[in-house]
Amino acid sequence: MANGERPSAPSEQRQQNQGWEAYGCSWPGKTELREYIGLMFSAMTQGLSRRIPSACAVCHAWPAQPICEDCIQVFAQPVHRCISCALALPATLTQCRSCASLHPEWDRALAAVDYAFPWDRLIAEFKFHENPAWARHFAVLIRSSPWVEPALEDADFIVPMPLATERLLQRGFNQSTLLARHLNPAKVLEGALLRVVNTPAQSTLARKDRQSNLRRAFAMEPARPGIVAGKRLVLLDDVMTSGASMAAASAVLKRAGASHITALVFARTGVDTVLA
Ligand SMILES: [Zn+2]
Ligand SMILES: [Zn+2]
Repeated sequence: MANGERPSAPSEQRQQNQGWEAYGCSWPGKTELREYIGLMFSAMTQGLSRRIPSACAVCHAWPAQPICEDCIQVFAQPVHRCISCALALPATLTQCRSCASLHPEWDRALAAVDYAFPWDRLIAEFKFHENPAWARHFAVLIRSSPWVEPALEDADFIVPMPLATERLLQRGFNQSTLLARHLNPAKVLEGALLRVVNTPAQSTLARKDRQSNLRRAFAMEPARPGIVAGKRLVLLDDVMTSGASMAAASAVLKRAGASHITALVFARTGVDTVLA
């Protein structure tokens, strides 16, 4: 990888590598987990390496895959996260401050990476510059993250976070649906959870305005009200910021009878603000 863009802080990387060790879960054991992560990383890099060579979008190495293996090793290492909202945490904690006092609507949260360089730039390219090809690469990274494979395996459905019709027409695709199709097309449940109000983009609002903005924003498709009753769901989005959107969607799914919801995102912002 070229020229100084990548942080060369081995101590930080060691810290990240060790982060999952205190993930707060007894299953599987540390040895199995180490092997599991190794296998996932191997599968991930092999999955990316099947691509036609080009330049790495991060370090511009040539020839390379869209994200080269060096950049994946540096920027996509698994980190220790809050079990309830996927916020990156010190290894001594299992839950962040917000989740300890107010449990989210969902049962578990998982994230592949932090919403930071280079993922913030690549997500913008994916979403706002109409480059849906990134869905495939992001899905590989999501699958390689700890606990994601079991969550996908256990799920009856993957529910992509819906977009309002107006935004869908502007963008031409729903980024969460594309990610879901790359994760497991057979389990994608489309059109059952609806976004019924075209609310302003969450990113444009102050935290205190987000929940009121989202009240009544989601509903079950009237013709399929019971489709998630008793089902285990993975609710999927590209980015979690405050978590308010996914909380509002989860509340609707739980009211419709969902038995378990894993909130899964590609990138998690690093601010301790979930559901606040
Ligand atoms: Zn690279
Ligand atoms: Zn949390």
